Amino acid sequence: MFQNETITCDVRALVMRAFENDTTALALNTATLGHNLPGRGAGWDSKRVIDACAERGFGAITFWTQELSENAYEIGNYTKSAGLEISGLCRTPYLTGTQAGSDSEVRKTIDIAAELDADVLTIVTGGTNPGSKGIVESQKVLADRLSKFSEYAKENGVSLALEPLNPMFGGNRTVLMTTQDAVHVCNMVDAENLGLAIDVYHVWWDATLEQTLKSTEVPILGYHICDWLEDTSDMLLDRGMMGDGVADLREIRRIVEEAGYVGYCEVEIFSSEHWWQEDPAHVLDVIVQRYKSLC
Ligand code: ZN
Repeated sequence: MFQNETITCDVRALVMRAFENDTTALALNTATLGHNLPGRGAGWDSKRVIDACAERGFGAITFWTQELSENAYEIGNYTKSAGLEISGLCRTPYLTGTQAGSDSEVRKTIDIAAELDADVLTIVTGGTNPGSKGIVESQKVLADRLSKFSEYAKENGVSLALEPLNPMFGGNRTVLMTTQDAVHVCNMVDAENLGLAIDVYHVWWDATLEQTLKSTEVPILGYHICDWLEDTSDMLLDRGMMGDGVADLREIRRIVEEAGYVGYCEVEIFSSEHWWQEDPAHVLDVIVQRYKSLC
């Protein structure tokens, strides 16, 4: 038994998954089509997005709560009947900072994830708590709240993925600036359904990523892809399409796969002035082409 496990690990380390002719691990985060902000994007409804992804061989879709007011169950079923999985739901309200959500608001998003039948509910933590400085105190508050919510999520069959953000998003959006920060909080909570979401946009610069992932048992529950543009014009809304920037996409995938990740590669591109202005059908075609050749 032990010997078999060792062999499996070795094979995984040597051979990355081949994407050239296989899009079954490709997932769309619907934010890429501009849907997650009112008035942005081309206005395709969820079913049209699902059909367009199915036609192109995507394996899964990640939705946002604001697209699923009262119809999460219906959209989940429609996704599955189209032959796709629901790779995730974005996201809980913030758990820390001035804009932190209430317990009932957080539980509501867990309920939506369960209705949708999403594998993973993503968490962007929120910023530094009022009355404190730095991130250490807020990380403790975060861990306390996660202990409670991970229990509730487990009862509902939902996993929670903590997403560290680029350090520039500290202050009002996150208290997890590195993957190591996220691992630290996961270890404080120690819940089996709590893990990491690794987003190329947030980790591409981090030379310690590989060491961090090698030295932890905390699972990777999501892997988000896009690119970091050399001359980005907006931290939040000017993400690049894979291949248009300076992130080493193959190298980052090697690192997450060697850490044991074999889940979806979820395309998540916030791009208000470029990709959100394009025809969504064209955006999806470009994604498939870039995914096969560059990711
Ligand atoms: Zn992400």
